[in-house]
Amino acid sequence: MSSPSGDGQSPEMINRNNGSTKAQWMAEREDSIYLDSDNAAALAEGFASEATLPIKSGFLEKTPPQGGLPFQKRWVQLDAEYLRYFQNEKDVYSKRMIPISSMVSIVPAGPQKFEVATKNRTFVFRAQSESDRNEWLSLLQNMLQKRYSSAGMPPEPCSPVLMHGNLELRGVHSKLYVTVNEDKLILYRNVDEYKLGIGITSIQMKLGCVKDADKRAFNLVTPYRVFSFVAESMPMKVTWMKTIEFAISSALSTNALVNKVWAQESNRFCADCGAAWPEWASINLSVIICSNCAGQHRWLGSCVSKVRSLRLDQSVWTDELVQVFLSLGNGRANSFWAANVPPSEALSPFSHEEDRKSFIFAKYRQGKYRCYHKLFGQQKALDNALCSNVQTDDILETLSLLFCGADVNCNMGHSDVPSPISLARSYNQHLQVELLSQNQNTEVPRLEVEYSLDRLEESPALIMYSGNLYKMGSTTRPITEQKPREEFSFRWCILKNGKLSYGNFRSSTPSRQLSVEDVLCLSVDAPGKHGYEHTFEICTDSDRLYLFGDDDPDTVREWIRSITKAFLPANVQDLAETAFRRVGRLRYRVGLMQEVSRLGWFSLAGTKLYGRLADGSEEKIELCRLQELSVQQDQNRLVLLERGRMLVLESEKKLDFQGWMSDIQQAACRAGDSLTEQQLTSGDIPVIVERCINFIMQFGLTSQGIYRKCGVNSKISAILESFLQDARNTHLKEGEHHVDDVAGVLKRFFRNVKEGIFTSQGAPNWLHAIEIKEQSQRIAQYQTLLNALPPVNKATLRTLISHLYCIQHSATTNQMNRHNLAIVFGPTLFQTDGTNNTGSRVIEELIQHYVAVFNVSEEQLQKEVDEVNWFMKTNTENFMVRTPPDPGSEMIFTVYLEEAGQIRELHIKVCPTLSAAAMTSEMLEKQSITPQERDYWSSFEVNKTEDTERALHHLEKVFPLLSSGSTLVVKKDDAMETMLTYLASKTNISKYKTMKVREGIFKGFQDRYVTLSGTTIRIYKEAQSVRPERELPVKSLTLYQGIKKKLNPPTRWGLTVVNKQEKRQCYLCCDSETEMREWMSIFMSIQYDGDVWPANTQ
Ligand SMILES: [Zn+2]
Repeated sequence: MSSPSGDGQSPEMINRNNGSTKAQWMAEREDSIYLDSDNAAALAEGFASEATLPIKSGFLEKTPPQGGLPFQKRWVQLDAEYLRYFQNEKDVYSKRMIPISSMVSIVPAGPQKFEVATKNRTFVFRAQSESDRNEWLSLLQNMLQKRYSSAGMPPEPCSPVLMHGNLELRGVHSKLYVTVNEDKLILYRNVDEYKLGIGITSIQMKLGCVKDADKRAFNLVTPYRVFSFVAESMPMKVTWMKTIEFAISSALSTNALVNKVWAQESNRFCADCGAAWPEWASINLSVIICSNCAGQHRWLGSCVSKVRSLRLDQSVWTDELVQVFLSLGNGRANSFWAANVPPSEALSPFSHEEDRKSFIFAKYRQGKYRCYHKLFGQQKALDNALCSNVQTDDILETLSLLFCGADVNCNMGHSDVPSPISLARSYNQHLQVELLSQNQNTEVPRLEVEYSLDRLEESPALIMYSGNLYKMGSTTRPITEQKPREEFSFRWCILKNGKLSYGNFRSSTPSRQLSVEDVLCLSVDAPGKHGYEHTFEICTDSDRLYLFGDDDPDTVREWIRSITKAFLPANVQDLAETAFRRVGRLRYRVGLMQEVSRLGWFSLAGTKLYGRLADGSEEKIELCRLQELSVQQDQNRLVLLERGRMLVLESEKKLDFQGWMSDIQQAACRAGDSLTEQQLTSGDIPVIVERCINFIMQFGLTSQGIYRKCGVNSKISAILESFLQDARNTHLKEGEHHVDDVAGVLKRFFRNVKEGIFTSQGAPNWLHAIEIKEQSQRIAQYQTLLNALPPVNKATLRTLISHLYCIQHSATTNQMNRHNLAIVFGPTLFQTDGTNNTGSRVIEELIQHYVAVFNVSEEQLQKEVDEVNWFMKTNTENFMVRTPPDPGSEMIFTVYLEEAGQIRELHIKVCPTLSAAAMTSEMLEKQSITPQERDYWSSFEVNKTEDTERALHHLEKVFPLLSSGSTLVVKKDDAMETMLTYLASKTNISKYKTMKVREGIFKGFQDRYVTLSGTTIRIYKEAQSVRPERELPVKSLTLYQGIKKKLNPPTRWGLTVVNKQEKRQCYLCCDSETEMREWMSIFMSIQYDGDVWPANTQ
């Protein structure tokens, strides 16, 4: 375990521009670091591009944390999220950033001074004058006040933390705690300050790039400065670099959309309050808004305003929708919405919460400021005008008509084009279609709606519906078999006052009822599942299932609509807007950091799971792209892992859970036979392809004739079948699977996949391209064809060719040069019989010109080559990492934490690079346990069937243990202190003793003379023997404490020595606990070359 350096240490600071003197350094002595920037020109330009808008900035003096030192002059800047202070006003990187959300109080503190208190620290500032102080004070107090008053409101969605951990920043000689958020890196002084949210500075990464450096170091290059970080280990370095690269690339892709929308000048300011650079939108009202206003829009409910983020909700932003926003823009949209705003009611970016709420209510719910259409109030005329206008491209007029009462679903009697939407479509007015579709369920603004702070929802009590349905007797088991018509009975049903009642006849009093509050979930069956054509199930809190149905689709649809409207809260009604398979409430946790589950609403439609979380935020998960889907059936818990983010779903009721589980599992499986319909990775390539390629890279790179050799047919079929059933749950393992079989699986998959990788339409063009004489033209043609492929095919082809490029890079060992590979892959990828070699020629060219065809940058290529070299090394060397990391494979695993006799069960995401020490500290962090001095927290492998356990070495990887059947427990290692003390006292790391030993060759325990020295355990018949009976090399052994009870060990202090390579065990019995510890110490010290415990922590 590593612990961040304490506050007592004096961090060095660097100032390369001025060259700091000792005196300066003393004056600067404070608990932060100073990061200057290298490039002043970029700075001047770049500062403007930072989207954080300062609310106030200026010089303030700050008291240093150590008393007795003079005040330090700091440039202080306040924005909506943070109060930051900088060394000087030109700096890009702050020395400290205090989130508004962590502030507890802001009070005056003597002349010109004020105090900003957070939970554990207080910052004192001194202003130049009383009036300046008062201004800071009131601004801050106001923000704090606002935060408290909005405590119940949905918070702004903050960007998720993709990774966090210790990194050393070169030049600062200080270990920092670093998080990678969606688009920025945040530096914290240590893990405690990370937990409190008080950081040093944040680094925008959108213009940055990551470069590899020597050993464990890598550089983050930004326009302002190069940050040179040192990771804790090589695998950690790779993980950091990959994560940061991912963050940069996703920041870039979202920036593209934001910049596109901002290209329209009026979209650069919030349509409601005028705040700069708004990143949210109401997609049906056609306005771009800031995050503060977005919160108020959300409060109106989705039937008034559908709020989406420009950054977070990428998938809703179709070209048409973006075009609507570019064509209208806040300017034109407001010419309708805000035609009559009295100056006294207008908002400013700093308007108070309540003002914002009432303004936005008046503007969109009541339509108070809108520009009334001249046909307002004449329904028929409005509808007519809408129908004729949607044939033109005037979408502003459509906006005006819609929000003045024209009916988006009006039927003007044309049988072939029944609605304005179909009319617009037939006139090719795509923007009209988009605007109309977004408003199919919108409520028209009405002045009569009264403003009230209560929830603006239709009370379930008000929803009334009645009619007949056929109903099955309720059951406590899942309904899997087909139910014939005879088992249904006719029921007259009434939905009223939040109750669904049903009886035999229309006239009679309903005999039974169920309360909509008890409805956990409603699911819609596929037509024809039961005797009645259309059926749906309701699952209730009392763990019962009700099945209803009818032959008429409209009857059933109307019932489903009414029931969902009654049991879904108003703000999540849109979950049931589209055709869904299942909708209802579940408990959820986002990530493992969140300990208590909360109630959310979810719907499953097609392969997508939509969610509305307790904080008002929205969730959308593409199930066929999940990295991992695991079921903990005994807990009624589903764990979904997507892009490194985790969602845990739980239900208290078995029936409800089983329904969700089987539907989600089904949706997460492969949809069809083509490449695009496979289970995909986050990089858009089929999971099967990635797993096979990773496996070959790890274990097959040096294998002679890889891909040319045929595997065993029956094994290939079995693996392929398993992948096609559920690729995500098919894992390839060294020792269990042979590289040639896996190579065979990959080839067979490509040979049989529907349409092939080049698609049946595209393949002939690829084969023709080879005829082009001029090489550059040929390559250009390949590029054109590549871009014409579907995205999944394109990404897969690139991955595959890159892989083949790597294979031929090692041709000297594996004998597979690009020609040999092309002969194998030509017929496979073009799905031909091999009588003609054109396909092979194309593949050979693609490998040869891989860099040019796929536009591979020099850095990318270097990385790939490095990866090959790394794998070559792991293929040949005996590495401590028994399973080389496969970045795609992460598993959720149960780990136990034992503290003061209490055992807690936690779930943790284990990736191949996770070390025992990292797992230990993650577990402690989760439980907010701060290790005390002389606490030696460690991870243990406990094997119940063998009655053994051992402490994992801090550098040992946890991943290979997951399949061993052992339990992982994190607890204090009581023996460690004794062991360290003992080792410190030894001048010679060795031990000799006669003890009771049991080994394969003996029957029972017998006296033997055992020596442990150098790197070998030797067992002699007696002390005088010259030749040992056995020699065991320590480095290939694992030492466990304890001996299986069944073997009747003669003492309580036994050790089990396992030789993994030979699958043999040997048992040693010590006379006392101390002696046992001594053997363990010597053993550990030899095995890890003296590194028994991380040196820097104790
Ligand atoms: Zn705003």
